[in-house]
Amino acid sequence: MAPRKLAAGNWKMNGDLAALAEVDRLLDAHPEPGCEVLLCPPALLIHPMVGKSRGGVLAVGGQDCHAKASGAHTGDISAVQLRDAGAEYVIVGHSERRADHAEDDAAVSAKAVAAHQAGIVSIICVGETEAQRDSGQTLAVIGAQIAASVPDCATAENTVIAYEPVWAIGTGRTPTNDQIAEVHALIRNDLVARFGDGAGFRILYGGSVKPSNAVEIFAIQNVDGALVGGASLKADDFGAIVAALSAA
Ligand code: PEP
Repeated sequence: MAPRKLAAGNWKMNGDLAALAEVDRLLDAHPEPGCEVLLCPPALLIHPMVGKSRGGVLAVGGQDCHAKASGAHTGDISAVQLRDAGAEYVIVGHSERRADHAEDDAAVSAKAVAAHQAGIVSIICVGETEAQRDSGQTLAVIGAQIAASVPDCATAENTVIAYEPVWAIGTGRTPTNDQIAEVHALIRNDLVARFGDGAGFRILYGGSVKPSNAVEIFAIQNVDGALVGGASLKADDFGAIVAALSAA
């Protein structure tokens, strides 16, 4: 069975209670989307956003979780707590977390394990910097991140991979279609080699996806959806991306 395509939005540290009106606008325009639709708002908005999900038409997720289920970790949120708030997914290893909070592959893997133990799907992010691409290290970097960030307990059901070149996030720049295809093929091959059922894992592309390039990106082999930052904040833009993925 072909994997279910996923349009995932990452609001990052944007949005407030008033911004939840965008969810109503999105679901009014796309009441029966032809792909899975996920929004990952700031943690404080998870529970109220779940209340607007119309019985699960929209899935809601967190942007990070702690590796422990509870304890003395001021300011952190566990996967168990995300689940309690109604989250079904959590992004782990986003490049902004890796850079701002010095999260390495081992930390990302531990967070993914915590998500799985809590019954949440992890979206594990990988991606090369511009310097790494320019020096021809992209495939080696991505291969190493996949090997060390994806835990042994990963399955196609509990794990989604997001390929997000760091230099393409929030910049308006995107890799060529061939560059995206090359990295997604590497990820697919690595997952097949390690897990056997790797063809079932969903592999998202992320980095400056917008309505004007979504159709083209979704036509690339092994692209099973997108992780979208800026363009997920407005219902019109994210809705156009949902429509493009539904038609792909
Ligand atoms: C992201 O932060 O995951 C992302 C892809 O951002 P943007 O779409 O804004 O480039």
